[in-house]
Amino acid sequence: MDYETVVGLEVHVELATKTKIFCGCGTGFGAEPNTQVCPVCSGMPGSLPVFNKEVARFAALAGLALNCEINRRNVFDRKNYFYPDLPKAYQISQLYQPICRNGFLEIGGGKKIGIHEIHMEEDAGKLLHDPWEDCSNIDYNRCGVPLIEIVSEPDFRSAGEVVDYLERLREILLYLGVSDCKMQEGSMRADINLSVRPSGAAEFGVRTEMKNMNSFKAIYRAVEFEAKRQTELIDAGGRVTQETRRWDDNKEASFSMRSKENAQDYRYFPDPDLLALDLSEEFIEEIRANMPESAASKRSRFTGELGLSAYDAGVLTAEKPLCDLFERTSALCGNPKEAANLIIVEICRLIKEDAATTEDACRRVAPESLAALIKMITGGEINRTVGKDALAAIFREQADPEEYVRERNLLIVNDAGLIDEVIDRVLEANEKSVADFRAGKEKAFGFLVGQAMKELKGTANPGAVNGALKKRLGQ
Ligand code: ADP
Ligand code: MG
Ligand code: ZN
Repeated sequence: MDYETVVGLEVHVELATKTKIFCGCGTGFGAEPNTQVCPVCSGMPGSLPVFNKEVARFAALAGLALNCEINRRNVFDRKNYFYPDLPKAYQISQLYQPICRNGFLEIGGGKKIGIHEIHMEEDAGKLLHDPWEDCSNIDYNRCGVPLIEIVSEPDFRSAGEVVDYLERLREILLYLGVSDCKMQEGSMRADINLSVRPSGAAEFGVRTEMKNMNSFKAIYRAVEFEAKRQTELIDAGGRVTQETRRWDDNKEASFSMRSKENAQDYRYFPDPDLLALDLSEEFIEEIRANMPESAASKRSRFTGELGLSAYDAGVLTAEKPLCDLFERTSALCGNPKEAANLIIVEICRLIKEDAATTEDACRRVAPESLAALIKMITGGEINRTVGKDALAAIFREQADPEEYVRERNLLIVNDAGLIDEVIDRVLEANEKSVADFRAGKEKAFGFLVGQAMKELKGTANPGAVNGALKKRLGQ
């Protein structure tokens, strides 16, 4: 029988707020374990949460970008469960009145994936299993880091659609600045709900859930695998059980973890420690009016207004730090084409050579330096080879381009007297080549130009050297 795959996603995104959702602790990734904790986020009895309004701002921003309705009245609910990484034994989340509802995200081919809701909640801590000591350690730094959970409708029909959506979603959130969306660091992670049904059937099948997937590749494989597993199970006369499964990317297989819990299991109830949060019209309108530009809009502006190719616009927007560097540089030097070129060809090459991350590389290259360098190249002060070397020095040593060129005497020599002087020396030292040239060997001319350029340390204008040499040889 033919089956259709049906997928719905729950995507957790850690928000880029400086402090946690209900206390003033920092949220930076990679700090020493248990150094970013206080009585509130470590669940001490008697402590009280205070809501961080930035969380609502980021959540509403994401909701507006995803075409959602924003609920003016927001309520927080307790989701009760015990786990060692959750010291309060309940998570504060939103069940009944999430901040955003009824949105959509358009994927390839114009298909709209419905967004059921976006709600705000707090993250849990992290359990670190130590196989050497045979014990588990708990890091509470992540407790209380704000999350939004973006719940889609079961609108996906293939692994390709799922990954397409996630890539677009990630790009949107990144450019909004609401999250760094680093899947490796867990700041964006997806739960895959998947069922299959006979093609043409009206009802959905029973679904399974695979939680906390943190790479697009693994997600693609997991969707394909789970659809196949369910199909084969049904074809063999079996029935899919509603359960949570764990995807093991090394084994390329999923394993049953536990039967699926229902909302009742969590004994949700409105959190009595927090007041309802009423968002004003002004608050929403202010967010709407100051929406950062999306990557898609940047791409069409780069190809339209700035005259870049679609390929270049794609490369520049593929990673936000690169895009920021490009925009700041071209604003400073007024030459977007040169800026795009240097970044795409030279900086991307340097990134590869040094195996650097784009983020790190873009921190090292000051837009001011890049813009100054571009001005020197386009103003004919230095040639491109020198420009390349100077760029490598900017990249590797944060060199100041003007100083770099000045200290090494690399300004282009347009001084005709100096060029003639050098040519005289070269001709004297290479009598054989001069004779060869006179005997009709064209190659000898190139050699002589090369020698002169070398003496001038590559800083002469090759056209000027060519002309002067021709004149001197009576051509
Ligand atoms: P829960 O809160 O128990 O996880 P929800 O009803 O909120 O359940 O749905 C969670 C996700 O599962 C949503 O993204 C939804 O689109 C998806 N989903 C629901 N039913 C199915 C189904 N039969 N097949 C695939 N996905 C489904
Ligand atoms: Mg779920
Ligand atoms: Zn705290």
